Amino acid sequence: MPIKSRIRTIPDYPKPGIMFRDITTLLQDPVGFRLTIERLVAPYADQRIDKVAAIEARGFIIGGAVAEKLEAGFVPVRKKGKLPHATVGRDYQLEYGTDRVEVHHDAILEGEKVLLVDDLIATGGTAMASVELIEEIGGDIVACAFIVDLPDLGGAKRIRDKGLALHTLCEFEGD
Ligand code: AMP
Repeated sequence: MPIKSRIRTIPDYPKPGIMFRDITTLLQDPVGFRLTIERLVAPYADQRIDKVAAIEARGFIIGGAVAEKLEAGFVPVRKKGKLPHATVGRDYQLEYGTDRVEVHHDAILEGEKVLLVDDLIATGGTAMASVELIEEIGGDIVACAFIVDLPDLGGAKRIRDKGLALHTLCEFEGD
């Protein structure tokens, strides 16, 4: 388990009851970082990927490296109010309240093939909102790729139920 064994779990962070899956221990290890990028890239090496879209902020660390390997462009999906040019956005539900993701309206051209990347999928709220945004501006999602899946929280199922390909490197039981 070269990926999973390098991920550190912090109980009760950022609040009681959450088991925080900390990927910094994976990425600070040169072998861990290289294997992570290799495994995220492998299924798409012979496919056309025009853009890698990654979700702020931990998604950016891996999204940039994956985009470079796939000779694709990089598109940041950012939290509300961070992008300087005209954006499209989607609100999504959190446990308490809502959050919003935004992308530049011209970041992806009609019909471009997009790989969506983030560090972890839990409830899938962030990923689903990002998928909708990318599709709204014309992107064609090839797959959604994550280092970690928390299957008990249902996000992976939401992605599959939408008919999208899902690619994850390891999973943790519970939340
Ligand atoms: P969700 O929208 O519920 O799928 O949450 C996904 C986002 O929240 C990702 O960007 C993760 O970085 C973060 N996240 C949610 N749960 C955890 C967890 N247990 N450990 C680390 N990050 C988490």
